[in-house]
Amino acid sequence: MERLPDTEEAVTDRDVRFDYRGDGTAEEVLRWALEKFHPNIAVACSFQHAVLIDMAVKIRPDVRVFSIDTGRLPEDTYECARDIECRFGVKIEWYFPRHKAVEEMMHRNGPLSFRESLDARRECCAIRKVEPLNRALSGLDAWITGVRREQNVTRATVAKIEIDDAHGGIVKLNPLSDWSYDRIRSYVREHRLPYNTLFEKGYTSIGCACCTRAVKPGEDSRAGRWWWEHPEYKECGLHARNWQI
Ligand code: SF4
Repeated sequence: MERLPDTEEAVTDRDVRFDYRGDGTAEEVLRWALEKFHPNIAVACSFQHAVLIDMAVKIRPDVRVFSIDTGRLPEDTYECARDIECRFGVKIEWYFPRHKAVEEMMHRNGPLSFRESLDARRECCAIRKVEPLNRALSGLDAWITGVRREQNVTRATVAKIEIDDAHGGIVKLNPLSDWSYDRIRSYVREHRLPYNTLFEKGYTSIGCACCTRAVKPGEDSRAGRWWWEHPEYKECGLHARNWQI
């Protein structure tokens, strides 16, 4: 069986679903996955740019796209979501946190508890992001993310095709894992794609408004996420392998 060089670590013989024989480009990985898993596959989009959706709709115009509204997203992110729906004709499947869990956390800890400790920040991410993600993935056989290796030390070894043990062993595709930030920007420009306008204000990675800031010249692309934390902790749990809600 031929495999992508960078999938070998993640793929073992127990994964009989892996019959990938493409050339390893982002488009080729997407084509294989969408042909194999649709409609039980969806793109997870946080509305930073539309590179993956642009590639996916050319393969399957009815590709499924979902997103998690944490309740604390920046306005620019909703504008990007609207632009993507208009441009590609996709209908975004939104997932929200359980309101009771958010209310209890806010009553107990206040509105900015996530800045007080790593545990408090992880609790907020678990309630607002991880739990809705678990619901979004239930029933899916595979999901597609925009995770890239250069984003942070926590992502340096991600493969293009993985088994997601944190979510029941479904397949996780990271087709852009070997792309640089500059390559993303070039693709967006070349194809005139919708993108999050916070990029024009110095942001290089965008999450919740209260936990994201613009980066300074020379800083890592995720330096503006939870900027008060060490880089090795900069994961919200959506892609972390070693902790969950
Ligand atoms: Fe909460 Fe910040 Fe995580 Fe958003 S990024 S879920 S506000 S801790």
